[in-house]
Amino acid sequence: MLTWPAPQIPRLPGTGEPVRVLDTSTGQVVVAAPGRDARLYVCGITPYDATHLGHAATYVAFDVLGRAWRDAGQQVTYASNVTDVDDPLLERATAVGVDWRTLAAEQTALFASDMAALGVVPPDVYRGVVESVPEVAAAVELLLARGAAYRIASPDGGDDVYADLSADPAFGSVARLDEAAMLALSAERGGDPDRPGKRSPLDPLLWRAERPGEPAWDTPGLGRGRPGWHIECSVIARDGLGVPFDVQGGGSDLAFPHHECSTSHLRLLDAGESARTHVHTGMVGYEGHKMSKSRGNLVLVSRLLADGVEPMAIRLAVLAHRYRDDWEWTDEGLAAAQQRVVTWRRALSGNGGPDAAPVLAGVRAAVADDLDTPRALALVDAWAATAIAGEVEFHEGAPGVVARTIDALLGVRM
Ligand code: ZN
Repeated sequence: MLTWPAPQIPRLPGTGEPVRVLDTSTGQVVVAAPGRDARLYVCGITPYDATHLGHAATYVAFDVLGRAWRDAGQQVTYASNVTDVDDPLLERATAVGVDWRTLAAEQTALFASDMAALGVVPPDVYRGVVESVPEVAAAVELLLARGAAYRIASPDGGDDVYADLSADPAFGSVARLDEAAMLALSAERGGDPDRPGKRSPLDPLLWRAERPGEPAWDTPGLGRGRPGWHIECSVIARDGLGVPFDVQGGGSDLAFPHHECSTSHLRLLDAGESARTHVHTGMVGYEGHKMSKSRGNLVLVSRLLADGVEPMAIRLAVLAHRYRDDWEWTDEGLAAAQQRVVTWRRALSGNGGPDAAPVLAGVRAAVADDLDTPRALALVDAWAATAIAGEVEFHEGAPGVVARTIDALLGVRM
């Protein structure tokens, strides 16, 4: 799948420190990638509605993680997927009367242009589900052969295939939820706990046999059908990064069941660890509720851009919040970010200013400390205020160093 153009990342003097992040599966802040290589998988979009601020916050957060790793001298490989065939996409296509492929292609293209505008470094490995069907089908067959999956006859012929979670004693170790919470979230987030014939209500779908009017692909061992949601990410991550990789990322609403199940599938496929660390971004609310397609309270990046909002103001409005917190998108927050753009630009426009070395060191330390971008912005604010006041020792070239610092580490290009 095609990505979007990669932004240039300026080189900074010196090297950043090891990057720490909050690991959902332990509740501890840990070094995100201990080795020279840093391998990241972030779940991609289901392309049926354009990028909203919740998506933007997630991809900007993991973009900052990648930038911090690069600054620490690590070799970053980033993989992501596009869920370009799934129930919500098909339902939306039917509802608006367009072909599902057309809807997916349009929305995937819009997502790419939003990401490019926001200065997000594109994935190195970017795979759609449609182009990964043979690999996913082979993985489902392997799970069947290992006794870690089973078939249930579909009402329309053929077999659906489910993972048998009893084959994985470590199931539950990502989100660490009790049974009641898992059952409730499974029903809420795409699972089918009440499906007759399942060995356990939580067992997730691996393969869906063809249904009338739905797309399906021929496979040698499974008949005609299409992949389930979780297994696609397991396979795309494994093939794109190898296992174990360093960080599996996404919004906190993906921790269960999606990351729990995709991690479990990988464990059973490769009999080992999948992601060393699971990192989740908070939910972005609007007008008192979590931003969601079902509620219809979406603030779209493309709409803001069409209204003339500068992409860097959107990025700064996101970076003003800690990635792991839930927060609310507001007009005041956007206005504050727009004012910050004006102030920073003014401070950066001179030939000199206050010493930039403490800003570089401080921003570097802040992003390495569990991506503390609010602290990073405050440091730049303080430098800018002093620069504009003009009552300090003049360091020639300081604005250039600060501009490269915010560009390389925060992805903010003035
Ligand atoms: Zn995923």
